[in-house]
Amino acid sequence: MYLVESFYTIQGEGKFAGFNSIFLRFGGCNLTCKGFNSQIISPITGEIIKGCDSIQAVNRDFKQEWVSIYDKKQLSNIVKNHLKNLSFKPHIVITGGEPLLFYKNKIFYEFISWLIKRNFIITIETNTTIEIDFKRFPIYKKIIFAMGVKLSNSGEDKKNRIKPKAIKNLINNTKKSFFKFVLDKNLITNQKADKQIKKITAQCPQTDIYCMPLGDTPQKLNLHDKILVEFCKKNGYIYMDRLHIRLWGNKKGV
Ligand code: SF4
Repeated sequence: MYLVESFYTIQGEGKFAGFNSIFLRFGGCNLTCKGFNSQIISPITGEIIKGCDSIQAVNRDFKQEWVSIYDKKQLSNIVKNHLKNLSFKPHIVITGGEPLLFYKNKIFYEFISWLIKRNFIITIETNTTIEIDFKRFPIYKKIIFAMGVKLSNSGEDKKNRIKPKAIKNLINNTKKSFFKFVLDKNLITNQKADKQIKKITAQCPQTDIYCMPLGDTPQKLNLHDKILVEFCKKNGYIYMDRLHIRLWGNKKGV
């Protein structure tokens, strides 16, 4: 299990946008989402790698920058360090990559249990393709999952990105989990966005649906944000900006 980075900032997306949060980003993902079109130079080959805005936590060419985790204390000490100068409890955000790759990992589970015992509010940001065994790992019932199910604009095969059983399983076993989708102008204007979202969310009509514009810079967000607002107004979804990108662009660790 690898940790890519940790930082204290505000949550930029979703139900808890604006909340003070400690982020822990784990390395590795079961998808690649090349359609999101963020680009970065590989430190190994010097070639351009395409992917999402978390590409450094997904592509193994960056593995040399990841920290290997072999003890729960490494993670709990990181949280304690961030808490040193705070007189309140921020949220904890577990992100990636795809952090649920490690949901059965003993150290990961111990760490989540340690956080729960201390009454932290925890969000795990997931692509919702991995089905959690809640009977064996019941602590996850206390987590809020930000279910970032990928649409066709991610460039991933449908069979890889949409796992209805994994979605249903999270909704049935947790209380405040919510959907968050990334949309762009094309997907909205060619009528695909609404169909895809309705199909994915049909089995959980009570769950909040947040939609955010595609882009890893404020300029790119500007291309999609207004049409997305209209799309949300029409369909009853919740528009969600990406505060961290508006404030800091694609700068990492803020
Ligand atoms: S699932 Fe998320 S972290 Fe993984 S490649 Fe896609 S957007 Fe990136």
